[in-house]
Amino acid sequence: MGSAASSFPGPIAGVLEGDRSKLTAERLARRAKQRRQIQSMIGACFVLDAVVLLIYAHAGTTSVAVATGYALTGLTLVAIYVLLSELGVHERFGDHYLVAPQSAINMVNLLVFTYIAPEVGVLFLCNLFVVFGFGALRTSTRQTAIIWTVMVIGLAALFLGTDKPIGMPTGTRLDRLATMLVFALTIGRCMCLGIFSSSMQQSLYQSGLKLKEAYRRIEQLAEIDELTGAFNRRSIMRVLDEEIARSARSGSTTAVALIDLDHFKRINDVHGHPIGDEALRTFAISMFANIRSIDRFGRYGGEEFLLVLPDLSQDQAMRALERLRGIIADLDWSAFSPGMKVTISAGVTTLKPRENSDTLLARADGALYAAKARGRNRIAGA
Ligand code: GH3
Ligand code: MG
Ligand code: MG
Repeated sequence: MGSAASSFPGPIAGVLEGDRSKLTAERLARRAKQRRQIQSMIGACFVLDAVVLLIYAHAGTTSVAVATGYALTGLTLVAIYVLLSELGVHERFGDHYLVAPQSAINMVNLLVFTYIAPEVGVLFLCNLFVVFGFGALRTSTRQTAIIWTVMVIGLAALFLGTDKPIGMPTGTRLDRLATMLVFALTIGRCMCLGIFSSSMQQSLYQSGLKLKEAYRRIEQLAEIDELTGAFNRRSIMRVLDEEIARSARSGSTTAVALIDLDHFKRINDVHGHPIGDEALRTFAISMFANIRSIDRFGRYGGEEFLLVLPDLSQDQAMRALERLRGIIADLDWSAFSPGMKVTISAGVTTLKPRENSDTLLARADGALYAAKARGRNRIAGA
């Protein structure tokens, strides 16, 4: 992009820079908003979990301090993320969500709380699944492996390095209700992750389709002359080279015709440039309608066109061009503009053994010149 903008002179480059910084500002604002949304969801999860912990506390299984401590730690983490995000710190990293470090910190937090309050360990351990699932959505395989390793080390330290009785409280009705809620919330969060991931996949798929279509259109634009729909000069020259190579391989004949519209400058002068454009378009359409599917037709430049006619001898090509000349001359051009008439002249030649496109086209050009010299609206061979 930088080189594209800098290739334009001053004021245009300025406008492009302006557009780009506006685009960048919009994109940054959108990303910051997405991060705020995610953090508010995470914050809501901490609050919901704190409510479940309060139920456990009400049942006497854990203390209220655990519930408030968990909520406060969670909300503080969220506040720090949001603050860093608003300061633009996240934008300095490849993944602007900072999923990997965030997941790692949240996992450590969960393991620490399992250590502090093992009696309600089920809540923290269930949350490990959610955090890990969330992390795996956006982290690389390597990062996922690292996070998993850190988590396993933490679990090993907790389960094997201590003898804490990690609990899944079911002693009272309230305990059973809270534990049921832990599972309901965990499954719900896993479901949300699944929905989020499939919607992400769907939008990636849609972007892929759009990209494919845009690429196809670019390819088409790069090959086709916009005004006439014929091949552009570069493409028709490539087609000609391919045809010369094919002809050399198979020993078949190839004819070409350089076609030029007669007195086209005058047509523009008398009837106007837009009518001139219409005439070029109509000429091209008439050609397409009257050539074989294996023939290739391209705009060689201005009002000059190149027709490649595989497998035709000089005589056959001359006849084909004579027929096309007649068709163009007989069109009712006055429908475009009163008194208008369009004719073409063409130089026709065939490929000689071991010849290249330069000499072939030079011969066709010579023949075209002869056709013009003989009075136009005619075909000449060489
Ligand atoms: P001749 O019979 O000898 O070929 O005469 P001519 O007037 O056709 O040839 P000349 O080369 O003097 O002029 C070609 C004209 O074709 C001049 C140019 O403005 C016009 N032309 C080239 N491309 C376009 C185009 O895309 N649209 C229009 N309307 N005119 C074009
Ligand atoms: Mg002309
Ligand atoms: Mg010309």
